[in-house]
Amino acid sequence: MPAHFCVSRQTAEEFMRLFVNRLAYCIQKEKAPSDGSAPYIKQTRPLDSGAVRMHLNGDMTISLFAINPQTQSCKWVAIDADFGDALDALFHLRRELKQDGIDAALEQSRRGGHLWIFGEGPLLASQCRIYIYNLALRLGVPVKGGGLKEGIEVFPRQDHIADGAYGNAIRAPLGVHRKTNRRYWFYDADVTPEAQLNYLYGLKKLTATELETLTQGMELPKAYRPPAPVPFVPRIPVTGQQEFRILNYVQITGKQDIRNWKAQCPSCAQAGRDRSRDNLGIKISDPRFYVCRAGCTKEEIRAALGQPIRKAAMA
Ligand SMILES: [Zn+2]
Repeated sequence: MPAHFCVSRQTAEEFMRLFVNRLAYCIQKEKAPSDGSAPYIKQTRPLDSGAVRMHLNGDMTISLFAINPQTQSCKWVAIDADFGDALDALFHLRRELKQDGIDAALEQSRRGGHLWIFGEGPLLASQCRIYIYNLALRLGVPVKGGGLKEGIEVFPRQDHIADGAYGNAIRAPLGVHRKTNRRYWFYDADVTPEAQLNYLYGLKKLTATELETLTQGMELPKAYRPPAPVPFVPRIPVTGQQEFRILNYVQITGKQDIRNWKAQCPSCAQAGRDRSRDNLGIKISDPRFYVCRAGCTKEEIRAALGQPIRKAAMA
């Protein structure tokens, strides 16, 4: 059993000042006995110090998103490594960061570790990534992606995210991992939430100006740049045949992922659901394909739009 704590509201607030850049968060489900999975579920309510207290105490486990879309900035950079020589790679990175005048804290993890760097103020996600990717490549530390299956992963995982998007979340430190029912602490500090936070607060924080200087003239290595979006070229309609176009009926909400536009599902909307207006995914490369993630059928969606699918006429 992992240690149970009873932290003060003040400790929770200190944790939030250090780690919470936006109030969106996920809660990790208890481990499923069937397959051992413990997925993170996105919450609709904003994170508050009560939830953070529960996380620190060990009553539940949360994950946090790196980027705030309003500023495209983050409060921290976390380097996740879980491959064979993960810890060696992280220690190597930490030594090199020190040479650049940056303190980094190493947290244990289930299969390796997480190396954390904290900002004095908001740090541009794109600059954080440029810096770490270049540093890692210079040291020969493998970076996942760009053709490599194994390597470090850098949170923030995106250079920027759309308004209403979240990017990737990482398990918040100092809590209990539901898969192993264990806490993973930062090295170099006593193993209580208070002592750990105290240690983290004592680290030198990276300023935006320092990061700017460190990344001058650098860009993200080519292999890791996101692919340029493929513009959609509509099919030439067959003369005389009026093809149904979902895009003529719904409003795209700007929450698109790499393959799909997002919109409120008309059928869900009719039932007063899908307030987040992103149940309907419309394939960017061919918008004839669309699907409601809440499970509405194509027939229901078309009917809700007053454009029912015509059944083939009976003979
Ligand atoms: Zn629906």
